[in-house]
Amino acid sequence: MESTLRIALIYPDLLGTYGDRGNALVLAHRARARGITAEVVEVDARSSIPESCDIYLLGGGEDAAQVAAAEGLRLAKSSIERSLTAGSAIFAVCAGFQLLGNSYAAADGSELQGISLVDMVTTAGSDRIIGEVVIEPSQASGLPLLTGFENHGGRTLLGPGEAPLGRVIAGRGNGNGVDGVLRDGVIGTYLHGPALARNPALADYLIAYVTKSVLEPLADTLVDQYRKERLAFASLRGAKLKRATRNLHRG
Ligand code: GLN
Repeated sequence: MESTLRIALIYPDLLGTYGDRGNALVLAHRARARGITAEVVEVDARSSIPESCDIYLLGGGEDAAQVAAAEGLRLAKSSIERSLTAGSAIFAVCAGFQLLGNSYAAADGSELQGISLVDMVTTAGSDRIIGEVVIEPSQASGLPLLTGFENHGGRTLLGPGEAPLGRVIAGRGNGNGVDGVLRDGVIGTYLHGPALARNPALADYLIAYVTKSVLEPLADTLVDQYRKERLAFASLRGAKLKRATRNLHRG
């Protein structure tokens, strides 16, 4: 990696409906707080995706924006792959996450090809999934509980060789008990928030991966308070939901 951490915000004009741009700001801030020079490179939908960045960010979007984003991403597939092989990372949220897979079935029934970076398919669900999410990552990842907000119609099925980002504790994530995908240099998730603002450990995970360094912890008092509040809110809702379902089954 060159001395400046280059964070590519891919297609913020198409993919960034739920404040996902904040992920770039959080990464730059947390890198700079460790004395690492950081630059956010905005790549709009008319530009080609540069190969020279360290962290690539894809956000969420509605189906029409997602169709527009898919074409450019497919064209950039080999640059993205070369960059990942050279040690870069990609963090993709919701629509962006879905586009990393083989295909996405939109609500109107049309099928969109993804870039097949991850072996997974996304089908259209019968309802929209909206609400708070809590994810428990695998112990091996070293990541804490993750908090976020989801709003999507798609249901994502990972292929047998892929591992999720974590188990869903509250909310729905991929729609089958897990959320996202996690493998060397590739993280996908349904978490908006923006996810890296709510989960600084995830931001640090990405920075540490691409800089190949161990990062000094930062004082995250305010974020910690916010995380506590969000996690408590989600588990309360989860408990209420469980009670309601139990009562439904009884009745
Ligand atoms: N259009 C996609 C879906 O509904 C993604 C939505 C999103 O990015 N929030 O599943």
